[in-house]
Amino acid sequence: MRILVTGGAGYIGSHTVRYLLAGGHEVTVFDSLEYGHRQAVPAENLVVGNLRDIDHVDQLMVVNRIEAVVHFAAFAYVGESVTNPAKYYTNNLIYSLQLLDRCRRNGIQKFVFSSTCATYGVPDRVPITEDEPQLPVNPYGNTKLAFEHALSDYASAHPFGFCALRYFNAAGAAEDGAIGEDHTPETHLIPLVFAAATGKIPHVTILGTDYPTPDGTCVRDYIHVNDLAAAHTLALDKIAPGSKLAYNVGLGRGYSVREVIATAEDVTGLKVPVKEGPRRAGDPPVLVASADKIRRELGWSAKYDTLRAILETAWRWHKAHPNGFGE
Ligand code: UDP
Repeated sequence: MRILVTGGAGYIGSHTVRYLLAGGHEVTVFDSLEYGHRQAVPAENLVVGNLRDIDHVDQLMVVNRIEAVVHFAAFAYVGESVTNPAKYYTNNLIYSLQLLDRCRRNGIQKFVFSSTCATYGVPDRVPITEDEPQLPVNPYGNTKLAFEHALSDYASAHPFGFCALRYFNAAGAAEDGAIGEDHTPETHLIPLVFAAATGKIPHVTILGTDYPTPDGTCVRDYIHVNDLAAAHTLALDKIAPGSKLAYNVGLGRGYSVREVIATAEDVTGLKVPVKEGPRRAGDPPVLVASADKIRRELGWSAKYDTLRAILETAWRWHKAHPNGFGE
């Protein structure tokens, strides 16, 4: 398939691009490189541009005879979305809507969307199934949910189908250590734990120890990026005109912040200096996926099915690239 991947130089995007290329697909990566990394994708696949220049995207759709779009390009800092909602509505919603309409005009019938467990807000029940009410608690989640609705309306009206993949906590790195996680600023637990273990930062702060969970810290469902990547290719195969697919992608098992730290100590053989701090606004106590639907309908399963297996790949990347792609 000839596939346009927006945001394909980012963390989840770049792992998916590798996966698609290995599967024999023709891939055009479109990335502004604001958060993505040039080194994360083959130079011959990368087109640097901004989704705001929708005519540029349109031209690529026509010239490269694109058949499917995998849309990662978005901003994803929850806290920033609260203080600067305009940035999130503009990039994650307006530019996505423009992209969607160019798909319609160019007859592109398959669309895979990077959605998020943040669309569920604070769930009533865990594990979270896809029919849990979607009630986001921050602008980031609102923009992602709004675009899911637009996709659904397009799939009703036009010869078009989509799959929204609602990611839980993406983690890990390529098996060969060539690409991995590198955010600036880094706010994610696992890279910060490794940075603390190696002395790059003085300590990692546990953001809240009074949650109603077994050890008082937040529980999350960590999922390996390559398992996320695999979900995209299965989704592309499944989508047909009229498809309105949505799947949670997680292990279906949760780990607390303290468990992540303990497992990281085990994997690295290093002590992780820790401080306990207050809760971070907007963090639900427990987010764990039910992965039953994606297993059943797409035949997906996680290759990296424990936190330890995920952290081992992340550690390999971190050790080889302590400064990420900047090295
Ligand atoms: N977390 C933490 N200290 C940090 C960063 C994160 O305790 O410095 C916690 C955070 O509260 C959440 C979990 O680790 O419960 C995962 O956070 P991350 O930012 O990695 O992903 P998110 O769940 O926000 O997508």
